[in-house]
Amino acid sequence: MGKITGFMEYERVEEGYQPPAERIKHYREFVIGLDDAQAKVQGARCMDCGTPFCNNGCPVNNIIPDFNDLVYRGDWKGAIQVLHSTNNFPEFTGRICPAPCEAACVLNINDDPVGIKSIEHAIADRAWKEGWVRPQPPAVKTGKKVAVVGSGPSGLAAAQQLARAGHDVTVFEKNDRIGGLLRYGIPDFKMEKWLIDRRVEQMQAEGVTFRTRVLVGALPDGCKVTNDAREVVTPQELLAAFDAVLLCGGAEQPRDLPVPGRELDGIHFAMEFLPQQNKVNAGDKLKKQITATGKHVIVIGGGDTGSDCVGTSNRHGAASVTQFEVMPQPPAQENKPLTWPYWPLKLRTSTSHEEGCQREFAIATKEFVGKNGKVTAVRTVHVEMKDGKLVEIPGTEKEYKADLVLLAMGFVSPIGTVLDAFGVEKDARGNAKAHTEPVGGYATNVPKVFAAGDMRRGQSLVVWAIREGRQAARAVDEFLMGASVLPR
Ligand SMILES: Cc1cc2nc3c(=O)[nH]c(=O)nc-3n(C[C@H](O)[C@H](O)[C@H](O)COP(=O)(O)OP(=O)(O)OC[C@H]3O[C@@H](n4cnc5c(N)ncnc54)[C@H](O)[C@@H]3O)c2cc1C
Ligand code: SF4
Repeated sequence: MGKITGFMEYERVEEGYQPPAERIKHYREFVIGLDDAQAKVQGARCMDCGTPFCNNGCPVNNIIPDFNDLVYRGDWKGAIQVLHSTNNFPEFTGRICPAPCEAACVLNINDDPVGIKSIEHAIADRAWKEGWVRPQPPAVKTGKKVAVVGSGPSGLAAAQQLARAGHDVTVFEKNDRIGGLLRYGIPDFKMEKWLIDRRVEQMQAEGVTFRTRVLVGALPDGCKVTNDAREVVTPQELLAAFDAVLLCGGAEQPRDLPVPGRELDGIHFAMEFLPQQNKVNAGDKLKKQITATGKHVIVIGGGDTGSDCVGTSNRHGAASVTQFEVMPQPPAQENKPLTWPYWPLKLRTSTSHEEGCQREFAIATKEFVGKNGKVTAVRTVHVEMKDGKLVEIPGTEKEYKADLVLLAMGFVSPIGTVLDAFGVEKDARGNAKAHTEPVGGYATNVPKVFAAGDMRRGQSLVVWAIREGRQAARAVDEFLMGASVLPR
């Protein structure tokens, strides 16, 4: 370990941010990362507690105490090697992971946890700056061909692992650019998109082929997910041309709110709104963009996607932004003895909230009100939990002015028709059915078809998608070769 008494000597230092008034004028990242000296001191706070719960709290099982120690000692090259041994894309997670590792940090029991995510961010950025992140093409090719459907973090992690194992990997993506929700969900101000392009270049140099604007299977009529496809490939064509197929199509079916007035103009799913801004940031000219400029915006859904709608609406110059959450307001502080080392329920205020947003909790939407076919207001009622159920509180009905309503209530499942086209069995929630046990993991009921990421586990996190992509790559490699040296 680094400094034995570091955790007693040094306070946690957070990454800095541009002030809200400045950052809402643009869509660029506004986090000011730790400098080398700060990261070294933060690394010294790691106690080397003996049983690093952080390592288990991290879905890719990053070897956190080791890289903390290496940063403390100034061995940044060693630190990126440790980080890359478990995580293909630490520059993504160092920016947008909610850091369940920090909730599990032993120092978090009675102090502020080690700033693991900010150290990861510093290591990844330093490694790229130094030119240490190079393509790793395989020494030997296997002659096996693998198709990966979907280019989100699960598809990318799997493709990189499989290419490094020597397979010929082709990634099929229905959108015009690679990255899945990293590209067309997460706003640029949380993660700039050149970071994905840089990895794509690395992966191309490792032998991965990317085919954009290609839809595999079919989408239902009227489906509103992002789709720039100009070509359709059938599952039969794919299965005939490849030795294995890995489905990483995400969980794109948004949860709807079928209350009276839902058909009014001005009510959109978050994923109709957010990708458009990312496209505009990339230089695309859109025929018609959904904008929040000068509008009273109601965001329905209190999670991350809702928060991204808040940040984007403020950047558009909304007249007001209000976010509804149906669940009661959580406590400001968790009860650590009760929750540690797990992810605690507590009030989370995102940087987007800090930029300006009225937050309403325990509120349900009863109706959308409109004039001339356009939404003008949202009728609500407050709710409370009784016998495990949310019930309306009489006399709390209210009307909120609304020119734009964004539905950000999560995602129910993958798009079913894609799985149906392959004949892949679904679980009770509509996800691709495949377990994650070491033997037979990630395999679906269809021979040589595997599934990973949100398409298998349901709506989740980037870091979980990376884990599933890595593990599924090993499963596919084992299937193709009888054994695998890829890590699980
Ligand atoms: C707005 C928003 C913000 C988020 N913010 C965060 C965050 O800050 N931190 C975090 O950890 N997680 C965040 N998440 C969740 C995270 O982005 C996802 O869990 C993660 O991207 C899932 O990765 P994936 O590879 O499984 O699928 P996805 O990223 O969804 O990628 C699936 C890809 O498959 C493509 N595809 C689907 N079907 C087909 C087909 N038939 N043919 C060809 N291509 C197909 C899709 O176009 C898409 O590009 C956010 C999600 C959203 C919606
Ligand atoms: S990937 Fe996320 S959970 Fe894992 S160490 Fe990094 S910030 Fe923590």
